[in-house]
Amino acid sequence: MSKGFLLVISGPSGSGKGTVCKKLLERNEKLVFSVSATTRKPRPGEIDGVNYFFIDDKKFDEMIENNKFLEYASVHGNRYGTPVDFVMNEIEKGEIVILEIDVQGAIQIKEKYKEAVFIFLVPPSMNELKNRIVKRGTESQEDIDLRLKNALNELKFVDKYDYIVINDEVDEAVSKIEAIIKAEKLRVARLKDILDNII
Ligand code: 5GP
Repeated sequence: MSKGFLLVISGPSGSGKGTVCKKLLERNEKLVFSVSATTRKPRPGEIDGVNYFFIDDKKFDEMIENNKFLEYASVHGNRYGTPVDFVMNEIEKGEIVILEIDVQGAIQIKEKYKEAVFIFLVPPSMNELKNRIVKRGTESQEDIDLRLKNALNELKFVDKYDYIVINDEVDEAVSKIEAIIKAEKLRVARLKDILDNII
């Protein structure tokens, strides 16, 4: 059996990470999604425990103190973190765990967990990115401006990633990520036990 691993997917707001991850999970029942904790308020339709664990600043501080995060960061004025226990249990079981997190979080994971796979998702153009955020209609003008400014900054970190996927068409982007997963599962480092059976 191939060992479990972390698949980190980052990309600027409006790159379509949410949509791509949702489709990726629909098409691949075996993949597991890591639900982050955040101090951001839920958007209409978001469900606690499904999209995020919506918590307050006090609880977030407690989780930091008790080493309950694999990584955490402030993004667009809110705090976000990956609960460590869930992720580590799943990896132990041999699962592939998807982390949809920002570049600061990805860098922290890279330092702690070398075997992780890093994918950077980008929109076809900055114009398209702006259209997507505006069309979503869930952010204020101030928030849209902040997310656009942050997007340009985040793009500078692409070198930290293993793969870049352009999200022009969702199904196409998902297929590319599936291809990456397929190849990553075949890495010698993840398949050492198989050799024992052959020899
Ligand atoms: P949103 O508020 O649009 O759901 O997410 C804003 C940003 O926070 C996105 O770039 C998303 O990838 C990032 N994010 C979500 N969860 C986490 C997390 O657990 N850790 C970090 N570092 N970033 C996260």
